[in-house]
Amino acid sequence: MIPDEFIEEVLAETDIVALVGSYTELKKVGKDYKTLCLFHKEKTPSMTISPEKQIFKCFGCGAGGNAIEFMKRIERKNYPEAIYSLALRIGLIEAEISDLTGTVYVLKLQEDKYYIGFSQNFDARIKAHQSGNGAIWTKKYQMIEVLEYFESVPFDMENEITQKYMSRYGWRNVRGGNYAFKYLHYDQTPEALHRKKKDGAYLLLLKEGKYYVGFSQDMEADIERQFAGKGLAWTKKYPPKRVIQKVKTLNIETAMQLTLQAMKDYGWENVRGYRWTADVIQKPKELDLQ
Ligand SMILES: [Zn+2]
Repeated sequence: MIPDEFIEEVLAETDIVALVGSYTELKKVGKDYKTLCLFHKEKTPSMTISPEKQIFKCFGCGAGGNAIEFMKRIERKNYPEAIYSLALRIGLIEAEISDLTGTVYVLKLQEDKYYIGFSQNFDARIKAHQSGNGAIWTKKYQMIEVLEYFESVPFDMENEITQKYMSRYGWRNVRGGNYAFKYLHYDQTPEALHRKKKDGAYLLLLKEGKYYVGFSQDMEADIERQFAGKGLAWTKKYPPKRVIQKVKTLNIETAMQLTLQAMKDYGWENVRGYRWTADVIQKPKELDLQ
């Protein structure tokens, strides 16, 4: 039994427009959206999605309902499976703790594009992709063939394979998993997320017993700048001698802690960093609080 509160939360957090939109292209008509029905063949759109009511309804074949009903039909899942897929999708549960398994497949598309998908009904899903009703990406770039597929694998393998293909063929040419959208921004790609790992804070020993704490999205490049005399006025006045400490971090708080610690160790007059980077500074009040 799935608790009612869980189902309510899944429905409250799921946007049916985004959900249906990840399978097919939507067109805004008034306050609703329209699309060719995903559940019967047609030439003019008779499926309506209402953001207000959070339901879909096809006036051709009668298919309709909420996000759970949509998931049941499109992925041919039973009721609990549909709820869990939606919960996974919105991050309410982790893929690792779910025992959701199915087929992860890789499609080669026209114009050297790739699509990675997950389905518990592989054959039906491939047919949908072939007819242009599978996903926005496979509608835009026609499917050529199934390159490879993995049966009875966990749901999150879809993201793994997507990342693998992105690093092989470039993020511009690959969609799938959490990256299934037509307009993918660079900062959402695994490549960009990986790049962020260059973030870091560092402590430099400068000439005349001075110190500097830097923080940058690209720590190594920033350190180079300081050594090249292209950094702050402080590191131009007191050129760097060597790097004392490097901390790989995404958190700017670390830069503050590092600066305050250096101020305690070497005297605040001799240290610049975080938001105390001017030539002349007042004693940071944070030093007294620590
Ligand atoms: Zn229909």
